[in-house]
Amino acid sequence: MSSPTTGEGSMWIWQQAGGHRHAREATSHSELPEGQTFVSLCGETLTVLNRDVHGPNQPGWLDPTCVTCDLQIRVNLGLPLPRCGTDGAGSANRETQTRRKMEAH
Ligand SMILES: [Zn+2]
Repeated sequence: MSSPTTGEGSMWIWQQAGGHRHAREATSHSELPEGQTFVSLCGETLTVLNRDVHGPNQPGWLDPTCVTCDLQIRVNLGLPLPRCGTDGAGSANRETQTRRKMEAH
């Protein structure tokens, strides 16, 4: 748990481009230079613009996170999804609670 990436191999890091913050596969944390193209996790081919590169006048990324990349990176990393799924134990429990409320009513 405390060793996220060991040895060589790829990881997923965030990269702003095309008006959103996308995830991309990378082998190091080094940022992409201006003009560099990359394929995002959601399948788009994007180009890094000047506004997407960190600098003295550009301390952080302000564009919203790409929803598709956010979901996909959670799946790839095995993290829980932000919203409840349509299947699983959660919905079953909710169904039981709803029934109990209806019986009590
Ligand atoms: Zn994306």
